[in-house]
Amino acid sequence: MRRALLPGRRSTFGTRRWFLWALLVVLIAAVLTMLVWLAGRYEESQVQDRLDRDATDAVSDLRSALVRNVESLQALHSRNPVHRDRWALDAAGLLHEHRELLRIEWRDTALVTLAQFDTGFRAPVFDRLGRNNAQPDVLLACTNARRASGPAYAPSYFVPQNEGLGLEVMELCVPLTTGGALTGYLVATYSLNDVLTELIGKQLGRGQDVSFTEADGTRLAFHGVSRRGNRAFTASQLLDLPGLTMVLRLDSWRVTPDLFPNVLTAMVVAMTIALASVLVLLARDMRKRQRAEQRLAEALAFRKAMEDSLVTGLRARDLHGHTTYVNPAFCQMVGFSARELLGPAAAPYWPTELAGEYQQRQAIRLRGNSPPREGFESVFMRKDGSRFPVLIIEAPLIDAYGVQTGWMSAFLDISEQRRVEEMSRASQERLQATARLATVGEMASLLSHELNQPLAAISSYATGSINMLQDRKQSESDLHLEEAMRQIAEQAQRAGKVIKSVHDFVRRREHAREAVDPQAVLDAIMPLVSLQARKLGVRIDLRLEDHLPQALCDRTMVEQVLLNLTRNAMQAMDQPTIVDRALVVQVKRAASNERTSHIHGWLEFSVADAGLGITPEVANQLFTPFFTTKSEGMGLGLSLCRTVIEQHGGFLEFGPNLPQGTVFRFTLPVASASQAAKRI
Ligand code: ADP
Repeated sequence: MRRALLPGRRSTFGTRRWFLWALLVVLIAAVLTMLVWLAGRYEESQVQDRLDRDATDAVSDLRSALVRNVESLQALHSRNPVHRDRWALDAAGLLHEHRELLRIEWRDTALVTLAQFDTGFRAPVFDRLGRNNAQPDVLLACTNARRASGPAYAPSYFVPQNEGLGLEVMELCVPLTTGGALTGYLVATYSLNDVLTELIGKQLGRGQDVSFTEADGTRLAFHGVSRRGNRAFTASQLLDLPGLTMVLRLDSWRVTPDLFPNVLTAMVVAMTIALASVLVLLARDMRKRQRAEQRLAEALAFRKAMEDSLVTGLRARDLHGHTTYVNPAFCQMVGFSARELLGPAAAPYWPTELAGEYQQRQAIRLRGNSPPREGFESVFMRKDGSRFPVLIIEAPLIDAYGVQTGWMSAFLDISEQRRVEEMSRASQERLQATARLATVGEMASLLSHELNQPLAAISSYATGSINMLQDRKQSESDLHLEEAMRQIAEQAQRAGKVIKSVHDFVRRREHAREAVDPQAVLDAIMPLVSLQARKLGVRIDLRLEDHLPQALCDRTMVEQVLLNLTRNAMQAMDQPTIVDRALVVQVKRAASNERTSHIHGWLEFSVADAGLGITPEVANQLFTPFFTTKSEGMGLGLSLCRTVIEQHGGFLEFGPNLPQGTVFRFTLPVASASQAAKRI
């Protein structure tokens, strides 16, 4: 599983993320501001272009209107000769049609007024100051006209009116010719304001003002509402007439607030707001996500720590039996790595001999059969091949939607538990055996006490009989009888000694150790051994090394040990299949070892048979009290033998007797010269 992020690294990531977010916000804000600005600029340029176009159109309209007016004025003199009355009538009509004209004069070549007519739309303009005041302008216009041989204008001038008002007017002079000769002039006075109103004003929009200005910007005439908005667009166009140059200026006033000048800008702004809102929402979502991620990471780290510290093995399988998850405890338990365990349906930790059975168990599980809730025991195999018992608790694996996706199993290695159980069982058995041994000891002690009397009686009766036989004259048969009686007395005494030894042994008294000739020990048991050997058809082979030293031992007990070993050996050969039944009893010096170097040496007694040998199962329990394979056996012999030998400081062991059978060996310490001389 992934490692949880270190706090330092986490904060670095956090700072970087915040920096990126801030950069994104700044960039988006910059882009959007630029978009809004560009949209505004675009809109402004559109307005400006339109205004420029309007100004150009206005100038061209004005020019053609003025040309048309000149033609209308010339038309007054189209008939020849011109009657004054008729002229006045035509001039009045013309003035009526063209409000921009204030006055029309017919002058002769010396600029003397021959006829004149004022517009009827307003009071005569020159009444206040007199027409002569304007004579220089008229002269200038007519001079220009004469020079150009065509209509010409004079620069405009201001004519004051009543109540502080006034008019900006300009003079037009059209030369009149007849047959190429100048015959006079037609002087027309234009009101600049009316020129704007009549000739241009009608085509202008509501938000537009139009004015005539001089080249230096001085305003001469104005037409419009003179509204003020927060934004003005201006287009100027030069009006170049013969003798007069003016600037026509168009102003477009934006009275509406400029924030959303048009749909495009409005849309861009709306998009900006939407984008900003989305950004805010995204940022919030991101923060939530981050918190959720952090919580998730913490939960994952906690889960991982928990899984890693568990001693219970965990394994998840999908519905096809494929292993999808194992925890470290499980890997450790079976000795396989997680990579080796994940995937396949058959597990490498199934013991080879049980794999089939486990496969069936898995198939049953996959069919949906629930295992017992308290779990069940099974055996798994480690990677090194060793088997160990496990307790398995399985449960269905249910996902967040309540659907079963597989099986979850928990494993407990119960080898330790088993070992403890085994130990407690063994100690229980030992306890029982000890109790039984104590009972046997009591019985032996009781028996030895009870048997002593009859044995003593047998012995004294035998001795008495011998005495009686010796007193009379003995025949051949009497001699045999006497010998038998002696044997009876001897064996009775021996039985008495055995009983005493056992009694001492059971009572754990200090045993009487004496220096004994190995030959003497063998001689003592041979009559009994030979008796059984004859019965079972066993050949006895005694092998004693020459010049053997004496052994220091409890003679009777050692005789019992030898008797027990030889009896076991002969019984082991009591098999119909065994033809050559040889019992080899051997006594030799044993090599002394470090541990026992203070001893003068060791004698090794061995009893070898050619029986069927000892199986490993029997070998494991051979010295366990009450273990026997015989129907009439007690199972105490070997256990007692070992105790006796170990009490002497020696050891009792066994091994195979090649080619067939078993050999039991035990050692006894060699008696020193002084010990040999006296009983200790
Ligand atoms: P018992 O003779 O009463 O059975 P022991 O303690 O003398 O008790 O022997 C225990 C078991 O050891 C015997 O039952 C027998 O199975 C096995 N055993 C002892 N000696 C030999 C042997 N020489 N060969 C094969 N098995 C033997």
